[in-house]
Amino acid sequence: MVMSHFRLLSTDFDGTLISHFSDGRCAPDFANVLVEHKKSGGLWAVNTGRSLEHAIEGVGKFQPPVQPDFLLTNEREIFHRTPDGRWVPEHAWNEMCYKKHDDLFAQSIDIFDRIRNLAEGHPGINLLEENGQPAGVITSDENVMHEFVAFLEPECQTMPTFSYQRNTIYLRFAHSDYDKGSALGELCRILQISPLDVLAAGDHFNDISMLDGRYAAHPCCPSNAIPEVCSIVQAAGGYLASKPAAVGVAEAWHFFYSDRQK
Ligand SMILES: [Mg+2]
Repeated sequence: MVMSHFRLLSTDFDGTLISHFSDGRCAPDFANVLVEHKKSGGLWAVNTGRSLEHAIEGVGKFQPPVQPDFLLTNEREIFHRTPDGRWVPEHAWNEMCYKKHDDLFAQSIDIFDRIRNLAEGHPGINLLEENGQPAGVITSDENVMHEFVAFLEPECQTMPTFSYQRNTIYLRFAHSDYDKGSALGELCRILQISPLDVLAAGDHFNDISMLDGRYAAHPCCPSNAIPEVCSIVQAAGGYLASKPAAVGVAEAWHFFYSDRQK
């Protein structure tokens, strides 16, 4: 029966499909899930903080038995794969996304000045720029990231649409309307897929927006997920896998799949 199948898998990449537990290649358990999912007509989105270029590179090394249908990149942009393997932007969404960020960042000069000052006096905080504008930071370790977030939180209070996405030592400045969750929501709107037919998997802070139950009724995390992610997945009635990374995602898929057949 068709209802047994998920129509869309939305998986984070780093920490969720690959990690220091793996060699960057697709684990056999997850490869089997992908084949099974594809056979039932399911779609697969890699929903990542990576840029398009780095997402393509990572998926290339991953060598999955089927290719993703969508890449959601920088925690906000949407690309779909054409039959001949090219990645094409979802223009309306991506253009609005770029415009809203341009407008927001143009209004955030004071915030960026204070961030620049902080970074200049702190060897562990490296400010990244894209197109001559601050885009995010990389910190020397996760403790410094905690420190930076403690500085940034009150700054965000001064501009309600100014937000950020963080993942280990990486942080990207973002408009509060854009995150992995809202990008997944837009993809489902375009495809006319209900949250009831979506399984989402992630391990870190930047995955929380797609794991809280709003956009995917079947959220899960691998055993290496951070405690904050585990709490969100648990609160949303999702599945906390006992195994790490892609093997854990495969475990979750089987759990939800057998649950749907009851
Ligand atoms: Mg991750």
